[in-house]
Amino acid sequence: MKTLIVSQSEVARLLPMKACIDAMADALMALGRGEVVLPLRQVVPLPHKLGALATMPAYSDSPKGIGVKVIAVFPGNRGTPFDSHQGAVLLFDTEHGSLHAIVDASEVTAIRTAAVSGLATRLLAREDAGDLAILGAGAQARTHLEAMLAVRTIKRVRVWSPTPKSRDRFAEHEGRRQGIAIESVASVQSAVADADLICTVTSARDPILHGKWIAPGTHINAVGSSVKSARELDTAAVQRARLFVDRRESTLNEAGDFLFPKAEGAIGDDHILGEIGEILLGTLPGRGSRDEITLFKSLGIAVEDLAAAQLIYRRAVEDDLGTWVELGGGRHEGN
Ligand code: NDP
Repeated sequence: MKTLIVSQSEVARLLPMKACIDAMADALMALGRGEVVLPLRQVVPLPHKLGALATMPAYSDSPKGIGVKVIAVFPGNRGTPFDSHQGAVLLFDTEHGSLHAIVDASEVTAIRTAAVSGLATRLLAREDAGDLAILGAGAQARTHLEAMLAVRTIKRVRVWSPTPKSRDRFAEHEGRRQGIAIESVASVQSAVADADLICTVTSARDPILHGKWIAPGTHINAVGSSVKSARELDTAAVQRARLFVDRRESTLNEAGDFLFPKAEGAIGDDHILGEIGEILLGTLPGRGSRDEITLFKSLGIAVEDLAAAQLIYRRAVEDDLGTWVELGGGRHEGN
């Protein structure tokens, strides 16, 4: 049986942001219809605070597929030639369980996460939201800028990250790449003042975004802290906002941004209004007024990686990209 290997640069070619946003919408609707088997991810924390190894399996009925992402998360790689997230998505068919593809997970993670934030922004942000603050200047910041540009008419962009050189480089490089001026700013407060879109995409463990700084009507995509021991938003920020999630069960188990305010008694489980897939299916209303603050808490779920890998595989076969290898998986005569 032949398996297709798709590299990081090929993923970037095969998974354009707009197509990925549509694929994420389909995947989250399938989840909302109960067509997905999605156990909580398994995380092996590594000693000496090196990072973690996570496995994220999923089965989907629509389109049919089985996949698992295996990803090493090493936040200390920032500033080195290594990505902070490295690994592979394995894509299997549902007829015989054959391994169809091995796809680079760094780029899938970078693009599919931003695509889901783009989808949440399309559903929840005000139509005229155009003043964007990005907190963080790494891989997710790069793809989130692209996703926000895909779903709203962006007129102003500010970026903050703790290292001046890093945020200046982001402003210069990504500004040139996307053809938009980006202001590099020295504090979170000045980055988010009067912004109507905020993406938090940092490796912070403790809150960087405070509720008192957020303007009425803002939509926030809270992406960085995807574990229960870390948070980017303080309690007031979460309490002030109407909260939507990618998946309720994951949020209740894995989201520091939700679990810290809950442990403080500031919010209960009913603070989660519902899932993005439910808005798409029309069973949950989204934004209710111009002035409310909406918050999308992203954890990142395996069905997103599966859907991205399915799309990449289909396009790679059509465009004759990737490298085929014979791994086995079929008995040969005489064996
Ligand atoms: P990168 O390593 O590429 O970038 C990390 C960014 O965080 C950098 O801008 C860095 O600042 C900043 N940073 C590091 N430490 C701190 C701190 N203590 N306070 C504030 N900012 C800090 O990582 P990625 O862009 O790949 O990922 C960003 C975050 O998103 C990670 O926490 C990751 O785990 C999470 N993530 C979430 C996903 C989801 O589905 N929800 C999926 C993938 C990632 P500087 O630029 O100044 O060095």
